[in-house]
Amino acid sequence: MQFQGPPLVQAACLLRDVRPWGRVDTASVEVPESVSRLVGQPTDSWKAPLRRWLAHLGLSEQDVGGPLDAPVSAAAREDGAAVSARYFVIHDTSWPWFGAHDFPPEADPHMNDLSRYAHASTALAHVFVNRLGRTLTTHDFSEPWRATKLEMRAAGVPVKGLFLHVELVQPRRSDPAGPAGNDAQAPLPGFTPAQYDMLALLYLAASVRAGEGLIPALHGALDEGLIDGHDDPQNFLLTAFAAALARLEQQLSALSVP
Ligand SMILES: [Zn+2]
Repeated sequence: MQFQGPPLVQAACLLRDVRPWGRVDTASVEVPESVSRLVGQPTDSWKAPLRRWLAHLGLSEQDVGGPLDAPVSAAAREDGAAVSARYFVIHDTSWPWFGAHDFPPEADPHMNDLSRYAHASTALAHVFVNRLGRTLTTHDFSEPWRATKLEMRAAGVPVKGLFLHVELVQPRRSDPAGPAGNDAQAPLPGFTPAQYDMLALLYLAASVRAGEGLIPALHGALDEGLIDGHDDPQNFLLTAFAAALARLEQQLSALSVP
């Protein structure tokens, strides 16, 4: 994992597809245009239209990770300098687990119950998004919070605070070809359109607070090479995220005309 290089080069590496059992594609991806025109670029002009859009949707700033006027978390470098969060890390919950049973319909209340993630001390992400696109903010994006093996083990203290974490609810079941009790099988498609729309909204809200477009990253690609690295998110479609972001940018552009 490189924490150097131009933001877009890092994004192209960190958005590589994560396959079953945590195998990560070797080739960097081509970052779609709606994403690349935001990454590393100033985001101030999006704040006002984003506020209007949230109001239009009936959402509070708390629903999207906390107040848009507050900065995101920062990491303390060894020389004492503060470095603002730069990475927007996308996870799947790999839960609920259905074993050998079929996946339920997307609206299933048990699968979409976010209250199981409500205990802040154990919730491993800043924001959770269920299959219906509803969210639960467990840690404000201003709070340095760890959710990857890389942060917890490999890289140590200096990176704490550099990463913002979003968990998309994704049920799992066992792959009959794998060991007993495995959770390798994810639904296809992996996520709902409502989840991609909310993910785009969260990405922009976090980027507005960071002052520039964050570097999007898939958890498995970030953890690649670590022992017991993660296999999430499964069946994440970068094109679907990019399309959601393009739609959001269009909606906000219409709102930025006074
Ligand atoms: Zn994860």
